[in-house]
Amino acid sequence: MAQLIADFDWSQTVLGPMDTWPQHLRTAVNIVLDSPVPMVMLWGKDGIMIYNDAYSAFAGGRHPGLLGSKVVEGWPEVADFNKNVMKQGLAGKTLSYEDQRMTLLRNGKPEEVWVNLNYSPVRDDKGKPAGVLAIVNKTTDGVLAKEAFQSERSRLYRFFGQAPAAIAVVQGPEHRYELANSFYQKITNRTENELLGRSIKEVFPEFAGQGVYEVFDTVLSTGEPFVAHEFPAIFDRTGTGSMEKGYFNFVAQPIENSHGKVERILIHAVEVTEQVLARQKVKESEEQFRIFANNIQNLAWMASPEGEIYWCNQEWYDYTGTNLEEMQGWGWEKVHHPEHVDRVVEFVKKAWKMGETWELTFPLKGSDGQYRWFLTRAYAVKDATGKVIRWIGTNTNIDEQKKAEDALKELNVNLERRIDERTEELTAANKELSRSNVELQDFAYVASHDLQEPLRKIIAFAGLLESDYKKELPADARVYITGLQKSSTRMRTLIDDLLTYSRVATKEQPFKQINLNSTVKIVLEDLQTRINETSATIETDKLCAIEGDPLQIRLLLQNLISNALKYKQEGVAPVIRISSVDTDEDCTISIADNGIGFDEQYIDKIFTIFQRLHGRTAYEGTGVGLAICKKIVDRHGGTITAKSKEGEGSTFIVTLPKKQRK
Ligand code: ADP
Repeated sequence: MAQLIADFDWSQTVLGPMDTWPQHLRTAVNIVLDSPVPMVMLWGKDGIMIYNDAYSAFAGGRHPGLLGSKVVEGWPEVADFNKNVMKQGLAGKTLSYEDQRMTLLRNGKPEEVWVNLNYSPVRDDKGKPAGVLAIVNKTTDGVLAKEAFQSERSRLYRFFGQAPAAIAVVQGPEHRYELANSFYQKITNRTENELLGRSIKEVFPEFAGQGVYEVFDTVLSTGEPFVAHEFPAIFDRTGTGSMEKGYFNFVAQPIENSHGKVERILIHAVEVTEQVLARQKVKESEEQFRIFANNIQNLAWMASPEGEIYWCNQEWYDYTGTNLEEMQGWGWEKVHHPEHVDRVVEFVKKAWKMGETWELTFPLKGSDGQYRWFLTRAYAVKDATGKVIRWIGTNTNIDEQKKAEDALKELNVNLERRIDERTEELTAANKELSRSNVELQDFAYVASHDLQEPLRKIIAFAGLLESDYKKELPADARVYITGLQKSSTRMRTLIDDLLTYSRVATKEQPFKQINLNSTVKIVLEDLQTRINETSATIETDKLCAIEGDPLQIRLLLQNLISNALKYKQEGVAPVIRISSVDTDEDCTISIADNGIGFDEQYIDKIFTIFQRLHGRTAYEGTGVGLAICKKIVDRHGGTITAKSKEGEGSTFIVTLPKKQRK
């Protein structure tokens, strides 16, 4: 450039020939030429350009045409900028632009460039600004790199902001937050304002002594990343002063600057507190389960969803005398009874597949070689989707119960068989009894019926003997005839009574509604003579109505009332009271007399046929009356009994259902 300047025809410019230049201009030009930095001297008010080698490189295609030309013409595309420079510079001001962006024409095309520009006035001998010295540094590459870096960084920060993990960047030796995304703010429960610009120590003083600050110091000094799995950190999450323990998977990643120096640390954290606590809980409860399971009296085990044993409790090993190694998988089959193992395996394989809790009883072999019965219950543990994840089983020793049950079962079977046999015997006996009863009844009926005819003849002949031969017969023969007549009359009564007795069963009438007062009235009419003879008093209450066989009920009342008249006290007129009480179902009739009474210990006797308590001489009778009463009451589904004391009268009590079953 020194050569070009020396050769240039300066006389054509306002500067005039070179040898006329003032000293201050020459000095300035020498400084320019000596400098390795691109420099240009803009001389005079038009800014005539004199520049060095470094500037010629910056001028590109315009060199050497720029030498000696006016700055506004040499750089027409930035004429306004340069006009201002000249104005300010010649007014004595310095100007400085850093990374000034300009659009310059290069080979006819506009191109963006960034330059550092420094302008300072060059003064003449009198101290007045005569030109402007410009130092021009092209910074385009640096600016572009910086811009790219910044946009890359903001892109990255934007990305961090949206990332679904807690991300923060801390800067410098104090680890000041430069970035903290929303997740990071959320897990630390700090706002962006509370974080940005502050150091970790300021934000989390509670980390002191937990080795957190030290982690960051080490990353910064060594440049090695730090990776922690389930890192415990105790901090004031709620901002209320109460400390909470959290667990984090976190990475502290060093970030190098352009010179390879670590200035920042990227923190990437994922909170895993819930998982850690859940796992701790599971561990705790599993531990508790094992303690519990090892201390119960039952055998217990756990199996995979497919039924392969992977754990047994101590009681299992103690009872079976085995160990886990032997039991694993399908080893449990070994302790099953050979007679039951197939049944159990078949059942259990189906049950595993069904995936439902099941129960089964079978014997298990003890360490002493003895088999004992167990009730096994397997509980299906399922996940949220209902899939079986494991089986937990228990075996309860039920050997004693099982044996007792079996014994009871056998006993029951025997008992049932014996009952069956006995029932059979009884049924046969009953059949036999009713057959002989019927036969007896038939016999009594036929006998008494057939006896009537010859008896009637005996009575008739005795009568004829007496009436026709009374005078011819000796006196004792007449006494015999009277005896004969008495006996045969008594026999007729007996036969009549027997016939009546057997007719209760054979001549039964259908049941009808009966007004007992009407029946009593008829009976009393029949007994009127006897009532008059004994001067008896009969008191009759209002009686209830019942359903029954009218003739038989009449016979029943007749027998009881006539007995009350018959068994009277000597010289005492009978007083007979007939009354009744009723419930919804029954009617209880009482016939009370003031007669001789009887000893109650013979109560069962008097209702049996031919049984009498009082002698025939004092009281006429056959001992059939009350047996007939009993038979009638039985047929009506009722009961008959009596209360009495000797000499104090008797009360006969008959209970009959008001309605008969059809
Ligand atoms: P009978 O009157 O023909 O002897 P019953 O069968 O009617 O036969 O009576 C049986 C016995 O019950 C009687 O012999 C008598 O001893 C006793 N008996 C019955 N009714 C009365 C009564 N009202 N008071 C005392 N004893 C009675």
